[in-house]
Amino acid sequence: VSTWAHVPMGPPDAILGVTEAFKKDTASHKINLGVGAYRDDKGKPYVLPSVLEAEKRITEKKMDKEYAPITGVASFTKLASQLAYGADSTDLKEGKIAATQSISGTGALRIAGAFYNKFYPNKTIYLPSPSWGNHTPIFKDSGLEVKSYRYYDKENISLDINGMIEDIKAAPEGSIILLHACAHNPTGVDPTEDQWRQISDAVKSRGHFVNFDAAYLGFASGNVDKDAFAIRHFIKEGHRIALCQSFAKNMGLYGERAGAFSVMCDSAEEAKKVDSQIKIIVRAMYSNPPIHGARLVSEVLGDEKLNQQWLGEVKGMADRIISMRTQLKNHLEELGSKHDWSHITSQIGMFCFTGLKPEQVERLMKERSVYLTKDGRISVAGISSDNVKYLAESIHHVTK
Ligand code: PMP
Repeated sequence: VSTWAHVPMGPPDAILGVTEAFKKDTASHKINLGVGAYRDDKGKPYVLPSVLEAEKRITEKKMDKEYAPITGVASFTKLASQLAYGADSTDLKEGKIAATQSISGTGALRIAGAFYNKFYPNKTIYLPSPSWGNHTPIFKDSGLEVKSYRYYDKENISLDINGMIEDIKAAPEGSIILLHACAHNPTGVDPTEDQWRQISDAVKSRGHFVNFDAAYLGFASGNVDKDAFAIRHFIKEGHRIALCQSFAKNMGLYGERAGAFSVMCDSAEEAKKVDSQIKIIVRAMYSNPPIHGARLVSEVLGDEKLNQQWLGEVKGMADRIISMRTQLKNHLEELGSKHDWSHITSQIGMFCFTGLKPEQVERLMKERSVYLTKDGRISVAGISSDNVKYLAESIHHVTK
């Protein structure tokens, strides 16, 4: 008998399943709203011109392909930290932040999980309900126990701020709380600045530790500083946070896998010790990270002119998404839909939780060739000037 005969077939990935069904559909007007990657108004993948320019410069430098240090390209981690914490962050200037390059945002979360499992006394991490589908497997794989706090209010298609605060306060003191820094995936529902203040107070009152997941800095509002509000507010309030960053969305570097994990410490000395332990974790997992994406980010963020150009391009992506939200909502209203679609425009980021029921999602796919996940989440990036009207008609068709 074969060595692997006992291995059972694993379940397919929920989102890949949507893409499979989309590919099989032969309708010319079909729309795929499952993918979590930005598309331009022609529905095509978008390589940022600032990134192309950085790539050209890097090629011209004829750099070698030697290994990066275990914690990655040093200029990259420095610039990534400055982007999130602010270039004027005193913690950064004083060397209190231990930062390592990671295999994009996923890798940052995985290092975080391994680090908490080894060094954080409380092994339970609380995720918003719902959260990005990969959070639970990542932290379970890291040996942590995964629990959740209330986040999304299905009834009102909004933030369940009271439930969230209650659950944060009810969690055992010193728990790990994961917060999406902005553009919550999958709901698109973010706390307001005032709600962030309440969340910070609740977390503080229980002495919890916060891990921010920042996969969309700049991509949500089009302004990095605005999207970093929660991170910086928590720090101002005295929280010592950890942060997982990704450049997949805001720089369009999906497959380059450029990310960072950083931990705020009480002193530079403590940060050095944390750094030494992160090196031990990384060394055993993948030795050291890929260099190309990190070089691209360094070139873009490190050059004043390119940086300005990039900020304009991120804003361009965010604005296109915001404009598609407005158009979708307007079309639904023009069609005479009786439902309140205001959440389409009040939500932010790549995703919109439409509030569509599983039966309606099923009908969208079968009758209209519009593909999305069962939870009613659509990737707004998959909407374009060419298909927004058809999409509105389709949604109206199944919600009449
Ligand atoms: N966190 C969240 C909330 C995400 O939405 C994503 C991307 N879908 C990630 C982390 C990580 O993505 P990546 O590993 O591609 O950077």
